[in-house]
Amino acid sequence: MIIKSFKLNKKIILAITFFIISLSIILFVSLAIDENEQENQESKKDNFIKWVDFNVSYEALDLTSKLDIDSHNKDADIKYNWIELLAYLACKNGGNFKNFKKSDLDALVQKLQNGETMGNLTKNLKNYDYYYESYSAVLSQFIGYNSDEKYGVIAFLPIAKGYSFSHYDDFGKSRSYGFQRTHLGNDLMGSIGTPIVAVESGTIEHLGWNQFGGWRIGIRSFDKKRYYYYAHLRKDHPYADGLKEGDVVSAGDLIGYLGMTGYSIKENVNNINVPHLHFGMQLIFDESQVDSPNEIWIDVYNIVEFLKRNRSQIIKNFGDVP
Ligand SMILES: [Zn+2]
Repeated sequence: MIIKSFKLNKKIILAITFFIISLSIILFVSLAIDENEQENQESKKDNFIKWVDFNVSYEALDLTSKLDIDSHNKDADIKYNWIELLAYLACKNGGNFKNFKKSDLDALVQKLQNGETMGNLTKNLKNYDYYYESYSAVLSQFIGYNSDEKYGVIAFLPIAKGYSFSHYDDFGKSRSYGFQRTHLGNDLMGSIGTPIVAVESGTIEHLGWNQFGGWRIGIRSFDKKRYYYYAHLRKDHPYADGLKEGDVVSAGDLIGYLGMTGYSIKENVNNINVPHLHFGMQLIFDESQVDSPNEIWIDVYNIVEFLKRNRSQIIKNFGDVP
């Protein structure tokens, strides 16, 4: 009897031991998976582009855009994608288009004509994906089909058609109002009242007074990657009638008028010396980059030069420059 109960106890003990060991294993494995997943999510969260130095030259923008547009309009066998071409060239020149050589582009085009594919040509280029993603963030909505189903440049110069302006590459120059800082855009000098149009379609995120920008408007692209900033708009009548935050605007729509407001805590004050539009573009790869010390503003001088080929006609009203 004693022996029997001992045997039974032994069985029970064995079963309990087995149960505890199994439970521990399950617990350990599930904890390890959980930790792994957390790590994965964290690295995913942090895996976005932190910096872009956009220095693609006007010549490179011009040549690659023509290849892209012509090949689509002629319905050629090989259709070029200017962003792919630019990303490939960036790998060749180390991301510095001061070293851009047309012969590099010609050689690439020749290879594609000979039947090689972008996929094969770029698979061993270490930084190709970085440049492709960076340049896509800047340029992806600049070329495409317009409302008439015509393929070409669909982004507009911010200064309306028929109005003159002047500019030079002033990105990174020092500014002293408020605190010492660098200039994160391009100033387009023109007459007060010159109609300003949306470069790209998007949603108005900011509209109103800002100490630095004066009457300003900030428009976010639909893919959320670009934030367009138009500042120093006209005193008393800065914006196109009826615009408000949250509204959607289309590329080429009138959004406001050139002026000289800003550099004042008080609203509607002309403290800028020379009337101009401050035009800026911020790239956003992750929402944490908005309003942070890690904002990415790019030099838009060559983009403004490029967009001179596509200007929007605005019907004059009483508020415009005569
Ligand atoms: Zn400026």
